[in-house]
Amino acid sequence: MEIKIKKAPLKKRKTKPVDEAKLGFGKHFTDHFFNVKYKEGKGWYDPVIEPYRNLQLDPTAMCLHYGQEIFEGLKAYRGQDGAIYLFRPLENIKRMNSSAERLCMPIIDENLFMDAMKKLVILEKEWIPKGIGTSMYIRPTMIATEAALGVHPASEYLFFIVVGPVGAYYPQGFSPTKMFVSEEYSRAVRGGIGHVKAAGNYAASLYASKIATNMGYTQVLWLDSAEKKYVEEVGTSNIFFQIGDELITPHLGGSILPGVTRKSVIALAKHLGTKVVERQISIDEVITTSQNGLLKEAFASGTAAIVSPVGHIHFRGKEYLINDGKTGALAEKLYNEILQIQYGLKDDPFGWRVKIFDGKKTPKK
Ligand SMILES: *Cc1c(COP(=O)(O)O)cnc(C)c1O
Repeated sequence: MEIKIKKAPLKKRKTKPVDEAKLGFGKHFTDHFFNVKYKEGKGWYDPVIEPYRNLQLDPTAMCLHYGQEIFEGLKAYRGQDGAIYLFRPLENIKRMNSSAERLCMPIIDENLFMDAMKKLVILEKEWIPKGIGTSMYIRPTMIATEAALGVHPASEYLFFIVVGPVGAYYPQGFSPTKMFVSEEYSRAVRGGIGHVKAAGNYAASLYASKIATNMGYTQVLWLDSAEKKYVEEVGTSNIFFQIGDELITPHLGGSILPGVTRKSVIALAKHLGTKVVERQISIDEVITTSQNGLLKEAFASGTAAIVSPVGHIHFRGKEYLINDGKTGALAEKLYNEILQIQYGLKDDPFGWRVKIFDGKKTPKK
């Protein structure tokens, strides 16, 4: 399917933020966005990159009532030679389609999805910040647009992609976070939708996050909903513990989001000679090993920060320190390795990096 490109007139374009240190996350979006419509019986039609604008939705658009809304998050990185890279984009495309399947939404053609991301990022390449750690965030989203009430899968959808520059996550270096273990609230249940990137999961997480933030914690450490015993995720990231000489992460049991960064950390840690184990890990084991010294490090993984060290855990009114509240060597090593692969500063033995623009010649198809 050929993507039509309608460019915004030059005089209507936004002023780009100049201070890369103040970019933050999710505050700036570019001059154009991609969208394509879907109708049952007709399939996807009219793919277009057009000037950024408000969407028009009927008040009964089904996404507003019954939550058929899924999204993805990945980044485009500018290399020092001006080349532009994506990091494992096919993983995000496949995950979006697995989210779509779970919420009875239509699958998107992988080639159309990839083509749309590449064309949009290349069209907006002047917006990609230059500093290491900065990037262009890509947010693909699908919503049900059919105007009707009544709970059933919608017959009409909109898939769109917006992009915008984001700042470095650690402009002043790592600062380990403080986790609050929630025994009262759940993010996801087995058999539910926790393993896909559905908007409703985030709404479900807000209340416990608010409690944690009010108490001075950075994020919620979620336990399994049935027994409140096993660690699942932290905030909107996956979690890793280094216990003894093993790196342990909860296995994907149906309520955990299969992070692209999680998968990359596992592969990279193995490649670097660390033993990685995917298994259930109880909060009791985490607490016990934090007391007897076996727990050396804990860190979260996700596209936003790559790796985010955990320094404190709050559990049942008590505070437990991990690695003296400092960033661990393994977290730092994994962070640096992935970062350098993403920015084209290092060989990519895994083939994770996808060059979409070579910095000099015309864009690659
Ligand atoms: C997006 C997300 C992650 C991290 O996934 P990445 O692909 O590594 O960015 C982890 N947990 C939740 C709940 C998420 O939404």
